[in-house]
Amino acid sequence: MTDTTQSTTESPQTHDFQAEVSKILHLMVHSVYSEREVFLRELISNASDACDKLRYLSLTTPGLIEGEPQFQIQITVDKKNKTLRIADNGCGMNEAELIEHLGTIARSGTDQFAAQISGDAAKDTQLIGQFGVGFYSVFMVADRVDVVSAKPGPGDGEKAFIWSSEGGGSYSVAPAGDETALLLEGRGTVVTLHMRGDAEDFLDEYRLRSIIKSYSDHIAIPITIIDANADKKEGEDSETPPEPVNAVSALWTRPKSEITPEQYKEFYHHVGHVFDDPAITIHYTAEGRHEYTVLLFIPSTPPMDLFDPKRQTRVKLYVKRVFITDDAELLPGYLRFVRGLIDSQDMPLNISREMLQNNTIVASIRQAVAKRILSELKKSSEKDVPSYETFWEAFGPVLKEGIYEDFERRDDLINLARFRTTKSEGWRSLKEYVGTMVENQTAIYVLHGEDAKKIGSNPHLEGFRARGIEVLLLSDPVDAFWVQALGEYDGKPLTSVTQGAADLDAIPVSEKPSDEKPEETPLGDEALGSLTALMKEALGDDVEDVRASTRLTDSPVCLVANEGAPDLYMERILQAQGGAAPKSIHVLEINPSHALIKELAAKAEAGGASPDLENTARILLDQARLLEGSALPDPAAYAARVTEALLKSLTG
Ligand code: ADP
Ligand code: MG
Repeated sequence: MTDTTQSTTESPQTHDFQAEVSKILHLMVHSVYSEREVFLRELISNASDACDKLRYLSLTTPGLIEGEPQFQIQITVDKKNKTLRIADNGCGMNEAELIEHLGTIARSGTDQFAAQISGDAAKDTQLIGQFGVGFYSVFMVADRVDVVSAKPGPGDGEKAFIWSSEGGGSYSVAPAGDETALLLEGRGTVVTLHMRGDAEDFLDEYRLRSIIKSYSDHIAIPITIIDANADKKEGEDSETPPEPVNAVSALWTRPKSEITPEQYKEFYHHVGHVFDDPAITIHYTAEGRHEYTVLLFIPSTPPMDLFDPKRQTRVKLYVKRVFITDDAELLPGYLRFVRGLIDSQDMPLNISREMLQNNTIVASIRQAVAKRILSELKKSSEKDVPSYETFWEAFGPVLKEGIYEDFERRDDLINLARFRTTKSEGWRSLKEYVGTMVENQTAIYVLHGEDAKKIGSNPHLEGFRARGIEVLLLSDPVDAFWVQALGEYDGKPLTSVTQGAADLDAIPVSEKPSDEKPEETPLGDEALGSLTALMKEALGDDVEDVRASTRLTDSPVCLVANEGAPDLYMERILQAQGGAAPKSIHVLEINPSHALIKELAAKAEAGGASPDLENTARILLDQARLLEGSALPDPAAYAARVTEALLKSLTG
């Protein structure tokens, strides 16, 4: 560590970066990321967050900002020494916080991010764009970074600390000496970048101005630039602070017409700590019982931790432009992908985070804003189908949680839902489904499965396809839950095609089961009766029943759950969760038109029960289990039976 600037007698403590940080640093130092200027956006964003935090703390402890209540971000350019310095008078960090915040990454999704770093420059560059790496981006432009920081308020002598790193595997922390003088009013943070040889162009004041204008104009705290080497001109008043580079007004308080899409986007990046484009921007002021301004964004790509159970909504609460908290749960859980802020005019400024939990204003804002978001989504679904479908692809699985969680908005949510079905390649709504039901169809049919691509080839679908009946193909884990909770749509029950006796007889077969095969004449009732009885006997307690099927056209058999029993897929989910799933005994349905079944019936008629018949029945049962996605209870026995059958067929 080069700590020549260190003026304390105490030697600095050296620490290793957390493994993920090391990986990210390596990426930063070696990346060919073309937008290196984002390091400034990151530092300014952190400085602004720090000022927001201190402003909140000072609501209850005004002494913290005594003497200097004005927050500011000051950038000092020193061309001679090739340094760039970013100072803020925000909340600062103590020694433990420097180690915690600048030595590890607390942000969720970091480990997934680090795991994806491949060493392939092009891929990794894209990753940086998607994830954003905050503070560590400084190492794209600097070969050494010093951070001097101090918490506000009365200190105990050893208050300021200096963190320093060259971006390798380690950093050092020590009490600050002379560097303490760099702090603005003795508090906050000063980040000094010792610029890399290939990044000296960032020491140009005009370049810096234009970067700030394009990335940080929305920051509500004045940002000023100072030239460290400028001579004071004769008569110049050194007390006059330079003009801020940014507009210095909270973006959401400006009229919509004066905000460009780029400004919205940059603000979204800042407030959401994300780096994609917002798909939908919602900006309005509610007046009435409560007055508040809403600026929310729906992302275009899902964050890495969307399904992390710990993940909560992260919409920020402001009161009269003062940041209060980002864990007020301002939105229901199924809208946890929404980013942005809500600024209330009526809440007391000194509201504590604890008080928010039962606050009636928060509750009423939560209601109203959730409603507004859903209506914006509805608008988007009508106005711009392709982009709505992209949204649905990314966030549909989360939104569907609302169908069982939010009774009040269930109808809105179900109408926003889109589905893969047997009818078309694209997405379908339930409204479209119901509008195109075939004659005599009384139910909405669904099929659950783990894999969207695989469920489409499930044999259960054959009879439905042959009759032109559309089936919803549901492959998200939440589907099992909302289908149960909803029960019906537009008066039509949601029915699983793997459950109960499919009553398809009232609907004629409209398509030939398969192009080549001629229509088979099904087994007569008598032959069918004796075959099902013999098979039931052979399979014993392993099946609930054996019966003829209307579901099948091409396959010989399939398994179905009994009426009233949980759907087969639901049962597997319950089992996977260790819940109390009933023992899986199902009904084996056989296809009376299938050649194999007809052969089997002939054999049964001739010879009655036999080891051959039992073997075939067992192979068919296992086949049905495999097709429906469950594991075989005894794979070795299955393999042995198939081998035996093959041998027999080969040896004739
Ligand atoms: P993020 O801002 O997304 O949390 P960063 O890598 O940008 O991630 O920063 C990491 C953490 O370091 C911040 O969350 C904050 O706690 C701390 N930090 C960074 N810069 C400052 C600053 N100027 N003042 C106070 N704390 C800071
Ligand atoms: Mg940051």
